[in-house]
Amino acid sequence: MAERYWIETLGCPKNEVDSDKLVGKLSADGLTAAASPEDADLVVVNTCAFIESARQESIDTILSLRDRSADAEIVVTGCMAERYGDELAEALPEADAVAGFGVPVALGRKPAIDVPTFDLLNLPRPASARPWAYVKIAEGCDRNCGFCAIPSFRGPQRSRTHQSILTEVEQLDAAEIVLVAQDLAAFGRDQGVGERTLGTLVGEVADRVDRVRLLYLYPSDLDARLIDAVLATGVPYFDLSLQHVSRPHLRRMRRWGDGQRFLERIDHIRSLEPDAAFRSNFIVGYPGETEEDHDELLAFVESAQLDWCGFFPWSPEDGTHAMTLDGRVDDALMHERLRELSELQDSITAARRDALIGATVEVLIDQPGVGRTHREAPEIDGLVFVRDDLPVGQIHSVEITGAIGPDLLAGVDHTAEER
Ligand code: SF4
Repeated sequence: MAERYWIETLGCPKNEVDSDKLVGKLSADGLTAAASPEDADLVVVNTCAFIESARQESIDTILSLRDRSADAEIVVTGCMAERYGDELAEALPEADAVAGFGVPVALGRKPAIDVPTFDLLNLPRPASARPWAYVKIAEGCDRNCGFCAIPSFRGPQRSRTHQSILTEVEQLDAAEIVLVAQDLAAFGRDQGVGERTLGTLVGEVADRVDRVRLLYLYPSDLDARLIDAVLATGVPYFDLSLQHVSRPHLRRMRRWGDGQRFLERIDHIRSLEPDAAFRSNFIVGYPGETEEDHDELLAFVESAQLDWCGFFPWSPEDGTHAMTLDGRVDDALMHERLRELSELQDSITAARRDALIGATVEVLIDQPGVGRTHREAPEIDGLVFVRDDLPVGQIHSVEITGAIGPDLLAGVDHTAEER
């Protein structure tokens, strides 16, 4: 019987939460964490299947762990297991079991862990080792964006109960909670709970922690009530999943909105809270994208002056609407457009960081010498370098004395290399 486990987590914050839950489950089953894969009897690989490069990274990771942990039991779980199940099990003899979060084990060799269906979402979690933690408030998605296969393997939206989420927030005992889901703002809709939507939950979580932050907001659901709820938390951070701004192109993506409406919503929020921070992600090169669509996106990025943006090349995904569309964008042109957008945004981000020099800001200390204001989400945005004697887990007022690209300096000397 396995005694020591190693969990390798790939992909997004939602996968990090699932791995945390597995840690809780394995510990409850009497297993202990191994110091390295080489020392483990059981190796669990929590995979990502969102796009081709993520799938390749998952396969490479499984094979390298097989080499490093010759005698261990290797269990593949996560999105690749969900999406490909038996097909993956047959193609990957290096794995002893392929267990999605919904299907029974494929190879008959009973692994050391039994992966419960769905209920992983509500499994208990150990206290957070960091002053912040992700909390996944729902599984699945009811939308059908043209480029995305997630609903096909994560299933329809299933929201957790408020109480199970609040219990987990208390268990984590973290200063900052980052709420995540595939479609966060649709929280509660599948439970027909009327008023008790995301806005209500944000308030309840904010009553229990110093900071609550939201990731992956679908723009049409960012209504006045949710905006007010976020602003009331004192963390005016808006991660808007926009993907593009050209109206006809967004319709080809089977998504709502357009650049004008997005700008109006951003301007409205800034009129309520000038210090609000914004992040968004955009897909470049989705079939049918014209030079006019691209120019419109460039103009939007210039006008919106967002703090952070991610630009991603479109990835062909089997089974998605995009695969039925003509008008494929040439690879070189797609990467040319990506380069143009990234260069523009980098200069905007740097200018917005420089504008903070001289300001006094509230920083949550994540580790000695490193913290974040309300403007920076963990793991994806810049950092604030501070004196390393400020206690971890506490919020401190500091004066910004410098900036290096995406990062800020508060009374310390720091070079880009030291990031
Ligand atoms: S909202 Fe769209 S992009 Fe996000 S998980 Fe759902 S279908 Fe995919």
